[in-house]
Amino acid sequence: MSFQVLGLDAKILRAVSEAGYTEPTPIQTAAIPPIIAGHDLIGIAQTGTGKTAAFTLPILTKLAALPPNPRRGTKVLVIAPTRELVVQIEENIKAYAKHLPLTVATVFGGVGEQPQIRALRSGTDVVVACPGRLLDLMGQRAADFSQLKYLVLDEADRMLDMGFLPSIRRIVQALPKQRQTLMFSATLSKEIESLTHEFQRAPKVIQIGRRANPAETVTQFVYEVPKHLKTALLLHLLQDPQMDMVLIFSRMKHAADRLARQLEQKGVRCATLHSNRSQNQRLKALKDFKDGAVRVLVATDIAARGIDVDGISHVVNYDFPMHVEDYIHRIGRTGRANAIGDAISFVTNEDHAELRALERFIGRGIVRKKAEGFNYTAAAPPYNPGEEGRHFSQQRHQSRPQRSQQQGSQPRQERSGQRRWRR
Ligand code: AMP
Repeated sequence: MSFQVLGLDAKILRAVSEAGYTEPTPIQTAAIPPIIAGHDLIGIAQTGTGKTAAFTLPILTKLAALPPNPRRGTKVLVIAPTRELVVQIEENIKAYAKHLPLTVATVFGGVGEQPQIRALRSGTDVVVACPGRLLDLMGQRAADFSQLKYLVLDEADRMLDMGFLPSIRRIVQALPKQRQTLMFSATLSKEIESLTHEFQRAPKVIQIGRRANPAETVTQFVYEVPKHLKTALLLHLLQDPQMDMVLIFSRMKHAADRLARQLEQKGVRCATLHSNRSQNQRLKALKDFKDGAVRVLVATDIAARGIDVDGISHVVNYDFPMHVEDYIHRIGRTGRANAIGDAISFVTNEDHAELRALERFIGRGIVRKKAEGFNYTAAAPPYNPGEEGRHFSQQRHQSRPQRSQQQGSQPRQERSGQRRWRR
């Protein structure tokens, strides 16, 4: 199958060929013709299989075919859950639209509003946005969506979960009813799919493989390990030079920082990515990881979806994911575009129920592995008054109200972590 037969615009075909793509992926082959034909669509396919191009290429083809219109205004709105993903989608769209006279802009929090307001007011053709900042700017009447023709919800199940759904409803209420609406994700439960009817008309559902399928290019292992030995096991595994580009998932932001400090103390170069970091820090962490300046990126689930970093050799679930869908997305950061990768999950006594639920969800068992030469019966490592000790002693010298305020703002698991250090 070649891209030529899918009905794409010639300038887009040129850009696709310059991107080095020789043939469409299965989701592209299946989704592009019905999108060009004007259908609403739900696209479900495994992580890393080219979903961004599956919706971008046909939309750009349709924009290229529009008759010249003196009325400016945004024609395409793509909504995605994280800033990193918004930036990445924009980069993709710009690459595919490089031979077309189209403008593309991003809208997300953590950076100045003014350039985004200017872009919206100037009627940028394609806007890629996170919902929170977009709603803010819509509240300031910065956006003109009267000409909007295409709406895309990327990571659709995340966009329609309880956290984002109210914002999505408010945004969509302000859009023209006559539009084409596309939703894409690697995971979409039947419950969430029932919500899509609010936003779409008779959507075609294109599904490649099973709904809950992790990418086939990812080899999955579970290491059962006592909770107190997780960091020691991680350091043990990191002695393997094949673990050369490692994305580690932690449940909590503070725990991610702490783990990164512990790894750095042992000589492992790390960056961290979570929502308490500034936009510049987030960009730098991702860039250092992509460039190989650090070997390890410790992240929370904000890095679980969509992020397309070439060459991640291993994903490590240091903390087992809370939701089965998160597992599919986390491990999908490796094994992208037919590359291969390993996904390692640490499972403690507390995680067994979640592991069983995950195995039911993906419809198969995950191979248990034991790390050679690792002492699974070791006692808790002795307290090491390094970076953590300094952090703790600084806290002890703070006045009491300050300290309790700080603790009050931290999640419960973090606070119990601190209690353990104090013993
Ligand atoms: P996505 O799932 O959209 O994040 O895409 C995953 C990776 O596959 C990205 O690095 C894309 O550049 C790449 N990709 C998308 N479509 C193709 C294709 N037809 N052939 C080769 N690589 C592709």
